[in-house]
Amino acid sequence: EDRVVSAEWSREDMTLDSIRPRFLDDYIGQRAVKENLQIFIQAARERGESLDHVLLYGPPGLGKTSLAMIIANELGVHIRVTSGPAIERAGDLAAILTNLQPGDVLFIDEIHRLSRTVEEVLYPAMEDFSIDIVIGKGPSARSVRLDLPPFTLVGATTRAGLLSAPLRDRFGVMLHLDYYPVEELAYIVARSAEILQVALTKEACIEVARRARGTPRIANRLLKRVRDIAQVSGWTTVDERLAGMALSRLKVDALGLDATDERIVMTAIDKFGGGPVGLETLAAAVGEEASTIEDVYEPYLLQMGLLKRTPRGRVVMPAAYRHFGRKMP
Ligand code: ADP
Repeated sequence: EDRVVSAEWSREDMTLDSIRPRFLDDYIGQRAVKENLQIFIQAARERGESLDHVLLYGPPGLGKTSLAMIIANELGVHIRVTSGPAIERAGDLAAILTNLQPGDVLFIDEIHRLSRTVEEVLYPAMEDFSIDIVIGKGPSARSVRLDLPPFTLVGATTRAGLLSAPLRDRFGVMLHLDYYPVEELAYIVARSAEILQVALTKEACIEVARRARGTPRIANRLLKRVRDIAQVSGWTTVDERLAGMALSRLKVDALGLDATDERIVMTAIDKFGGGPVGLETLAAAVGEEASTIEDVYEPYLLQMGLLKRTPRGRVVMPAAYRHFGRKMP
């Protein structure tokens, strides 16, 4: 998927590693989350113990991986990064766990996608810092308990509800990340612009932020594209008007909607009188999979109050008519 406003990680984000915040002080917004972490980290440091296991949950692109790395940096320990789908067998996890140094952070992204058998290895590891491994085969097989160094598991998932209850219960700290308000995103854009050495006025930063769907990953990607356009157009300083021009050229409108978002809403208006229209029917008319609309496009349209879900189907809201300059039926 190569939508410029997709919140999912894409290859073009790889070059953005230099702007990833390294310490809590560089991490903008999410004040409650930061305050909590600060206290837990300081307490763990003072006691010389490993930090409690931390679960981070919230939509993609909001800074979960960054926070995991920050936790390790603030604790002054190493981080091992992996993901639920990458750990296929119990033995893979055992190998990772036995190779950790005392106090290390193990980050498991998409932790809800761990298989059942792998998850069961994690329970005693999280609780007692030990794992049971089976040595030998058949009748002579025996189980041996192996001690692990104390470590901190940082798990990330889009929704806490996706985790099994026994796994969820083993996290001492649960932190929810939410979409960023425009002002905070504008700070993120300004910080990134400084690192990428592109001159943006404060108003231009706000313009980029406004179209970034509450998501730092999208804000940084838009900034990078604006930088490219500024460079080839010979703009030395990007002000609000130039930023707006560049973003329109990227087909991202004033609310951060792209062509597909617009097509979904306009189809609902033009072909179904603004709804209610069933998801499957709408998807067929738009020419997308129903699941794609539901998982990728709809969440932001719902969040912005442009679309509403009702028992009888999707309904276009007044804000959408206003945004697209259409009269309500
Ligand atoms: P997630 O793991 O939730 O998908 P990431 O941690 O990979 O998100 O964040 C995506 C990008 O957004 C990072 O590269 C980082 O540069 C930026 N970012 C995220 N949160 C913040 C923040 N609070 N302050 C500054 N930059 C951020």
